[in-house]
Amino acid sequence: MSRELNFIACESSFTASDIVIVGYPYDGTSSYRPGSRFAPSAIREASDGLETYSPYLDLNLEDKKICDEGDMILPFGEKMEVMNIISTRTEELLNAKKKILSLGGEHLITYPIMRQYIKFYPDLIVVHFDAHADLREDYLGEKLSHATVMRRVYEELGDKKIYQFGIRSGTREEFIFGKNRNHFHPFTLENVKDVIWEIPDHTPIYVTIDLDVLDPSVFPGTGTPEPGGVSFLELLKGIHSLRGKNIVGADVVELSPDYDPSRVSSIVAAKIVRNMLLLL
Ligand code: MN
Ligand code: MN
Repeated sequence: MSRELNFIACESSFTASDIVIVGYPYDGTSSYRPGSRFAPSAIREASDGLETYSPYLDLNLEDKKICDEGDMILPFGEKMEVMNIISTRTEELLNAKKKILSLGGEHLITYPIMRQYIKFYPDLIVVHFDAHADLREDYLGEKLSHATVMRRVYEELGDKKIYQFGIRSGTREEFIFGKNRNHFHPFTLENVKDVIWEIPDHTPIYVTIDLDVLDPSVFPGTGTPEPGGVSFLELLKGIHSLRGKNIVGADVVELSPDYDPSRVSSIVAAKIVRNMLLLL
């Protein structure tokens, strides 16, 4: 574990905490532009410029018990070993009755996290915000990739357990697969609220936020920018529509801070993380 700076106001001890932040600075399968390994520290640094209070939600981070335990140290070239480390840490945190906010890294980190969540919460529902369907059977022959992650999650969950929003890129096969097998809502986040409110309040929900769902004009700091995305406020509203639901964990992935010299992308990511924490 390495730890330099907390996410703002996340200073609870591990024992006292309800929520744990853990960073996985891994970008081993990034196909276009790597660099998301630098995201967790950039997000923590950017959080320092935010208020702990969200006027949208009328909630304050200081009222929550959150422990930021820093980043896991990962052996970069060893994908399976990285998957094992993420899986083991997730299992330990779930057994300790923590809610987890995981910071990527690339989207593949969601897979080992999710496998543990599904074991722990057999009736889990997944809400997925992304520009990309991530439903490929394989990518360049690899079964485990940021481009296949939701397909692997689907294989663990089965039909109609994944709600996908904002998707605007993928193969025809992925779009057909998504429409047939998942709750598939491409292009916008307009109907998040209506769709999510069909899910019973007690059902455990895991939220995976691939930040490239945002338009590159808002969020250029990412590995595979995809024009035609949503605005910051649309994503925030989409996330806020989950308020009152039983959210048991979340991850925020695919910030690649060095592609945005203005550093605004890191602030965007930090604000999404803040509000996601407030809803856990
Ligand atoms: Mn994506
Ligand atoms: Mn993704």
